[in-house]
Amino acid sequence: MTNPFENALMQLKRATAVQAFPEAFMKQISVPNREVRISIPVVMDDGSTQVYEGYRVEHNNARGPYKGGIRFHHDTDINEVKALAFWMALKCAVANIPMGGGKGGITVDPKKLSKTELEKLSRGWARGMSDILGPKKDVPAPDVNTTPEIMTWMNDEYMKISGDTTGATFTGKPLNAGGSEGRGAATGMGGWYVFQALREKYNIQPGSTVVIQGFGNVGGHAANIFSANGYKVIATSDSKGGIVKEDGLDIAALENWKKEKGTLSGFPGSRDLTNAELLELPCDILIPSALENVITFDNAPRIKAKFVLELANGPITPEADEILYDRGIPVVPDILANSGGVTVSTFEWDQNLKNEHWSEEMVNAKLLEILNRESIAIYEKSVAAKTDLRRAAFIVALERLAKAMGY
Ligand code: NAD
Repeated sequence: MTNPFENALMQLKRATAVQAFPEAFMKQISVPNREVRISIPVVMDDGSTQVYEGYRVEHNNARGPYKGGIRFHHDTDINEVKALAFWMALKCAVANIPMGGGKGGITVDPKKLSKTELEKLSRGWARGMSDILGPKKDVPAPDVNTTPEIMTWMNDEYMKISGDTTGATFTGKPLNAGGSEGRGAATGMGGWYVFQALREKYNIQPGSTVVIQGFGNVGGHAANIFSANGYKVIATSDSKGGIVKEDGLDIAALENWKKEKGTLSGFPGSRDLTNAELLELPCDILIPSALENVITFDNAPRIKAKFVLELANGPITPEADEILYDRGIPVVPDILANSGGVTVSTFEWDQNLKNEHWSEEMVNAKLLEILNRESIAIYEKSVAAKTDLRRAAFIVALERLAKAMGY
């Protein structure tokens, strides 16, 4: 499998070939400040003990406390977490929020655990990492397969150990446990705001067709938001496969279908297709919202979308980036397109520290203002530097990080 951290460093190399940065800064920004690995023993329901491997990578905190989600996945390893932590440092700089970059994970297939086992594992991660966490040190959040409920368990465990009562160490909590209005939908909503800011620059018409890989938290909300705004979502997928309906899917009905049947397959009026086929469908807007490395050197020549909005982290390899750029297909990079999630997480942290509760309107208005401003700044950088949006976003982020690090 492609090493995501090597891909991230390759992206860094491509961007800094367009605009150079001081050598000492480059050395520092290319490695994480700290990598922590822990063993988490869990007594399973049958009385046996399983030991899981957990990670936290703290990439850079020059602009604020480390910030980034925790992923539970059977393929998660230290290289994936390192890449995600690096992208978080860049993403927080792109959104210009006062946070650094970190990421966490556990190598586990959470679908194979009972709820009790999952709670023990989640509490075990928070316990094992408690020394390095804290509202002013390192603030985790949800990612793939981690939910608001998991954040509540972790936050509770952390508060018991540390005595901290702000509740600001974990974000993405449920509303009744100190969460923020708008956090659940924030990544999808942020993607919509970024798309709106850039749409006309790339000649994408209102009401265009949309294909979304992944129908989880991010992809599900994106499907709802694009559909509610008059776009035609023609295909989506989950880990088991996808469905397509050329005259548009009814997203609310599809959500109910998936809840009831546990699969997208068989949704009335649609036909099944594989995730590989889904990515190559003719459409206007392709929104990868699942995992990394899905658009590669192999399938990039066959992508038929006119515009790609990366809501997943790292879905396009650097080789594929090159191919899409040569083919004139604009890609809005993850570190801009999905930065709505960490931005509203930062609002949640801010509200917890100030003991405030903001309305959903206020949260979305602040999010819109930030993403509109930063999307335009990155677009303008891409025009001035005659490069793509990813390299432009890297350059903007690196300029902000370099300044914070005294270069
Ligand atoms: P999730 O667990 O809620 O959903 C993931 C979705 O991807 C599910 O529908 C799952 O079935 C599907 N999936 C898994 N493997 C797949 C495969 N091989 N092919 C197709 N689909 C597959 O996770 P999420 O929070 O929605 O995160 C999705 C992506 O968005 C990740 O890359 C994550 O890092 C990124 N992201 C999430 C947030 C957030 O706020 N949750 C913020 C920024 C970025």
